Amino acid sequence: MADLDYSKLHPETIAVHAGRAVDPVTGAVAAPIHLSTTFERAIDGGFPSGFDYGRSNNPNRAALEKALALLEGGAAAAAFASGTAAASAIFQALSPHDHVIAPTEAYHGVLRLLRSIFARWQLELDFVDMTNLDAVRKALRPATRLIWSETPSNPTLKLTDLLALAEIAKSSGAILACDNTWAPLIQRPLALGADLVLHSTTKYFGGHSDVLSGAIVARQDNDFFRRIREVQTVGGAVPAPFDCWLVHRGMHTLPWRMHAHSQNATQVAEFLATHRRVTRVHYPGLVSHPQHDLARRQMSNFGGMLSIELQGDRSTAMKLPNKLRIFTRATSLGGVESLIEHRKSIEGPDSLTPETLLRLSIGLEHPDDLIADLAQALGRAS
Ligand code: PLP
Repeated sequence: MADLDYSKLHPETIAVHAGRAVDPVTGAVAAPIHLSTTFERAIDGGFPSGFDYGRSNNPNRAALEKALALLEGGAAAAAFASGTAAASAIFQALSPHDHVIAPTEAYHGVLRLLRSIFARWQLELDFVDMTNLDAVRKALRPATRLIWSETPSNPTLKLTDLLALAEIAKSSGAILACDNTWAPLIQRPLALGADLVLHSTTKYFGGHSDVLSGAIVARQDNDFFRRIREVQTVGGAVPAPFDCWLVHRGMHTLPWRMHAHSQNATQVAEFLATHRRVTRVHYPGLVSHPQHDLARRQMSNFGGMLSIELQGDRSTAMKLPNKLRIFTRATSLGGVESLIEHRKSIEGPDSLTPETLLRLSIGLEHPDDLIADLAQALGRAS
């Protein structure tokens, strides 16, 4: 197939073709998996294939990174063994005493990473409510090097105005990173001015709850990204070839899955918002979401994640998932199957999440079946 001009193609087409080619040796249409950890050198000592050793690079990782960069609209991408390893690489690319501004609400693992590991490596940290941009401005210091954002946030789907945050980052000379794990393709952080996008590709990219991996996509292949690349290849938290292959395969259907996850979640959220036992539904697609206008401006769809707060107490929230038949009680998100979890009990002692909150990852089942399952578990609506 001729080289495609990806700048003219839609995400659905890019997702299928980027980083893919018919295997020139066998004619195989699906990509082969290259398990070899080492690659033959030429007689002059060179590396004619461009590969030398599996930690430095591998054909499946190279193909995945090319596809990730094209799909997210970046100049370069780096794949990692998990989303957390990818986040670590960004923090490791900073220097001691660099100042980082991070949100008070975000994936608890990233917050823990900062507080319990990178604080000891002398990153200076401030946590602010990123729905309030004045709080971000006030937290800026001359040493501020990185602003970390996550939108929609985990677990109450607060939004951060990326365009405005990018302005703040630019005017202060800081790098803006956005964890876009919950909204791949339906939110384009690089186009809104972010410098780096992070994905736990364990979630929607993989899409089937069977691979742990992460990625960083950079707007520019600059010195900071080269440091990230060094952390990847010298630090060694790289994904296995099969994991790269699985994520790349998942990516082929990602745009269509995001449409379907969003449609299903919208219907489920609308149902839950009418139920008397549900006191709050956190979903940016609902008109009642306090930042719905921002959601409409910065997202093309609203994703498959939502959370609810229930009438009652912790035990009511712990018991409800036991009555569900289609939803599975489990953490994580972004797979074809719907999941539900009591979030506070997994986040640990620092968690600010309400005891009555349940987080739902809406899968690709028929929405009527999901709604019927929730209806029978919640009991009478009035
Ligand atoms: N970022 C977000 C928003 C997440 O939800 C997660 C995992 O749940 C991560 C990062 C970490 O990814 P991983 O579990 O692949 O390390």
